[in-house]
Amino acid sequence: CGIVGYVGGQSAQDVVVAGLKRLEYRGYDSAGIAVLADGGLAAAKKAGKLVNLEKTLAEEPLPAGTTGIGHTRWATHGAPTDANAHPHLDNAGRVAVVHNGIIENFAVLRAELAERGHDLASETDTEVVAHLLAEAFSSCADLAEAMRQVCRQLEGAFTLVAVHADAPDAVVGARRNSPLVVGVGEDESFLASDVAAFIAHTRSAIELGQDQVVELRREGVTVTDFDGRPAEVRKYHVDWDVSA
Ligand code: GLU
Repeated sequence: CGIVGYVGGQSAQDVVVAGLKRLEYRGYDSAGIAVLADGGLAAAKKAGKLVNLEKTLAEEPLPAGTTGIGHTRWATHGAPTDANAHPHLDNAGRVAVVHNGIIENFAVLRAELAERGHDLASETDTEVVAHLLAEAFSSCADLAEAMRQVCRQLEGAFTLVAVHADAPDAVVGARRNSPLVVGVGEDESFLASDVAAFIAHTRSAIELGQDQVVELRREGVTVTDFDGRPAEVRKYHVDWDVSA
């Protein structure tokens, strides 16, 4: 439902949770976050309102990191439980992914992953993406390229955003039939399902086109299509008032 991603110099947890709050008006049933820290990945997710997640984070703080992603879920596949909340991780706990939309061919992909020895822990359509990204990354060692390879296998509507512990200081996003907006700040970058999530930080935005992948870094963003061809990027200024 709501997606936020951040890479920069601030606390990723603070920026992501504040961004998710800005998206609360859309309605959701669960929330979660993942941050890259100390060469690893840490995540927390909770059914219910964002305050439930905030309570968990207060009781068991994540290590401080400056790269992170977050999600508010509107369940389509699998009940609104802690286990089904996003982010979803691969079995090694190195990659985390959040997703808006529906992956129509998830059952086939799930069966193939199980055959290859993956252990799927949730009832969601989303979780297959974490496992597929982990596999792709292990052979290409490039998260944007791994995302492109995975997207070419997916059917349906999706905004996907991922981080990998072995790709520090980067967030990768992709979209098909579901929105994704990038925010370009000074020495920091954002992405979200809605500009409201990052408008407090930057008003310089890029609307990701259909079937495109974006790699987000502190110093800027790179956009390609699903085949890796560089895409034309048009920056625009968000001038509407979102103080409400
Ligand atoms: N289909 C996914 C799920 O049920 C994502 C739902 C959403 O867009 O929040 O977990």
